Amino acid sequence: MLFGRKNKKPIVIPSKKVAEWKYTTCNYCSTGCSIEIGLNEDKKIVTTRGHAGADVNRGKLCIKGLLEHELFDSPGRGSEPLIRSKHYDPFEKTYWDNALDTTAQKIKAIQKKYGKDSFAIVSTGQLMTEEFYTLGKLTRGCIGTNNYDGNTTLCMASAVSGYKRSFGSDGPPGCYDDFEHTHCFMAFGSNLPEQHPIIYWRLKEALEKRKFPLIVVDPRVTMLAQFADIHLPITPGTDCVLINAMMHVIINENLQDQAYIDAHTQGFDEVRQIVKDYDPKSAQHICGIDEDTIRTVARIYAKAPAAMSIWTMGINQSTHGSDGVVNINNLNLITGNIGKPGGTSLSITGQCNAMGTREWSSCSGLPGYRYLENEADRKEIADYWGIDPEFFPKKRGLAETDIFPAIETGEIKGLWIVATNPMTSMANTARIRKALEKLDFLVVQDVYEDVETNQYSHVYFPASVWAEKEGCHTNTERRVNLIANVLPPYANSKPDLWIFNQLAKRFENGNIIKFPEKAEDVFNEMKFLSKGKERNLDISGMTYQKIIDAKGIQWPYREGDEGPDGKNLKGQARLYTDGKFPTKNGRANLLPVRFYNNNEQPCKEYPFWLNSGRVVEHFHTRTRTGKIGNCNKFSPTAYMEMNPDAAKALGVEHMTYVRLTSRRGDAVVLVQLTHRVPRNMVFVPFHYHDCVNRLTLGLLDPHSRQPAFKQCSVRIELVDQDEAARLNVERRTF
Ligand code: SF4
Repeated sequence: MLFGRKNKKPIVIPSKKVAEWKYTTCNYCSTGCSIEIGLNEDKKIVTTRGHAGADVNRGKLCIKGLLEHELFDSPGRGSEPLIRSKHYDPFEKTYWDNALDTTAQKIKAIQKKYGKDSFAIVSTGQLMTEEFYTLGKLTRGCIGTNNYDGNTTLCMASAVSGYKRSFGSDGPPGCYDDFEHTHCFMAFGSNLPEQHPIIYWRLKEALEKRKFPLIVVDPRVTMLAQFADIHLPITPGTDCVLINAMMHVIINENLQDQAYIDAHTQGFDEVRQIVKDYDPKSAQHICGIDEDTIRTVARIYAKAPAAMSIWTMGINQSTHGSDGVVNINNLNLITGNIGKPGGTSLSITGQCNAMGTREWSSCSGLPGYRYLENEADRKEIADYWGIDPEFFPKKRGLAETDIFPAIETGEIKGLWIVATNPMTSMANTARIRKALEKLDFLVVQDVYEDVETNQYSHVYFPASVWAEKEGCHTNTERRVNLIANVLPPYANSKPDLWIFNQLAKRFENGNIIKFPEKAEDVFNEMKFLSKGKERNLDISGMTYQKIIDAKGIQWPYREGDEGPDGKNLKGQARLYTDGKFPTKNGRANLLPVRFYNNNEQPCKEYPFWLNSGRVVEHFHTRTRTGKIGNCNKFSPTAYMEMNPDAAKALGVEHMTYVRLTSRRGDAVVLVQLTHRVPRNMVFVPFHYHDCVNRLTLGLLDPHSRQPAFKQCSVRIELVDQDEAARLNVERRTF
């Protein structure tokens, strides 16, 4: 018998017969990979590939990007506007004019009867920036409700809040190039290989060239933790304690950068005072990291010529999310690690254009990081749009997580949901379902008509996807990149920009304010509003052509930055390089953070921590990746990671089903035994409908209103395997 390669057939990659490649940007995560879409001679899309000339991904893509071209005609796409008088009744197809007229009339009727703010709008992090700006114009300038927010409250609100509190403005100060310069890399609650695979590849590339310590703080042995030099398996929700203890060591041993602190910060004495209470000896009993390791990590971080921290949902999705971000900023400020190559506080954003909504959607204020609370900002935008400044509220309204409770109390009667799926993504979905059922009117705007939240709508707007339209995204490192329009909208779906513009015409101010039809004209408005030396968020030097030529430009990129020969297409890689911050006196705020323990804890009745997160194949609630054959094939079903010792004690076996129960509800999941989780914790991916968010509590951070998805408790029960398998197949079938 012959063994080995001799008789094996070589793998043949069939030619896709691409006749033309079109430039665009990935529409999933915030890494911001440049993509080329391949079209054959019949102008049919046949493949995608990474753009080799793009600095972000240098030709690489993860599985989601590689298969993104399969989105265009995937199952479940909405082809026509739909309408019905009661949710659960069968939908009827309708004309766009009727769907839009009905929606405008319902909004006006609800507002007339119950007040302007009784109609709420919840948007997303996945539209183009021009669409966000236009939705903001429609909401703030025409509809006039103050209860308007994005689903970014579920993922990035704590980062925004923390940046504003520490530095006086939102905007991640660092970039991927920092990996090339850092001497110590610390990741808090961030599993890069699965969440942001191409950022991880950039980190690996930097590590292969030049060794530096990789420290990972995560209760679970994530893929990133497996590659770490030091893994700190922290007790959930106690990051503030760990960082305070690190600062205790740094200040006690005089390792802080006093010159930087004196020149560029305020509040050091208050921070020094509070961290005295966080001696590693006592802190270790709260955060679960032994005192020697705390000291070692603190010394490595403080002594590194440049050290950087990144974080994702492990920090943001917590009742201490905003404080956690502030404390990471504190750590970097006292060690002089802001605004220098390799020294930064870099929040790794979630959705492809979460940054775009933060910058331009007006969800938490007015466009271009302007504030509703600031009279000059209100006047500037009202004058530019041509309306009365009194039309604007004087402070921000409810966040997404407060909008649903306001439906329960009857304060909100109508809702418009744009490209988000709260029936899967919000904590405690049983409560969300009841809230949606209570609404007098719900309109859902989404690429997919089978998105779970659409079960409760009265009107459905079918939206175009990705390169069926045109516009920009801003990625994690403030890089603005372009999605070019490659093919026409599917069936009778419409670009979100078109939908917003058409709805605007049905409101009084919509005939006063200009609503350009072309995305590039909208971009030109944003450029104008961004102009000004005092503004970091300045895109006035950018054009669509320059963005394509550069494969993305980081802001600020001001008029004139292209230089006398017009060839400089690089924006500013880092913020705060001069140590000046957009606060009243130009100094960054060092803010003392005290830990308080308000999380639901494992107890006798519910003895396991419930942790949740992502898998590489899926994006958010699987509305898109759940329809892509190979993404779904690799990760078809909800599962639960469980420690083998804990499983043995309960009689649970590998690849059997169990019931997870919390104080909110229950879910049946398939067990994977692994030492990635400790004995007192289980982990479930958050992508699946009717699964982990039936269980989560979602206590809110007081500053950001972001829910704590990762800190609650559950118990595990054995179930009938045949019944569970049947339920699971039903759940997988859309
Ligand atoms: Fe798209 Fe993110 Fe994957 Fe890049 S890493 S291809 S941006 S999903």
